[in-house]
Amino acid sequence: MTEQKRLKPELEKIAGCFIYLDCHVVENTGENGSHVPQKCAVCGKENLNFIHTLENSLGSDDGPLEVCIKCARVLIGDVEWDIPGEAENELERKKLGN
Ligand SMILES: [Zn+2]
Repeated sequence: MTEQKRLKPELEKIAGCFIYLDCHVVENTGENGSHVPQKCAVCGKENLNFIHTLENSLGSDDGPLEVCIKCARVLIGDVEWDIPGEAENELERKKLGN
């Protein structure tokens, strides 16, 4: 199965065109302490633990894109290290430090 590696056409078109901005933990800040649903803007994956914010480097006016880690890795293209993964690790460390 190569399903996981195949990109959706719309994703393939914009892959590598984004700059990594930020990563944040999805907090349970809904009313009654319910989980606020977070959805990846690209693949539609729900209930994300981390949201990665990317900016279009081509100067699009669409504003920042909030995506899951998998889409973040694809969209920022080839970089020297795993920026989204590192960002999540960093946040995990901070969380444990509390
Ligand atoms: Zn995604």
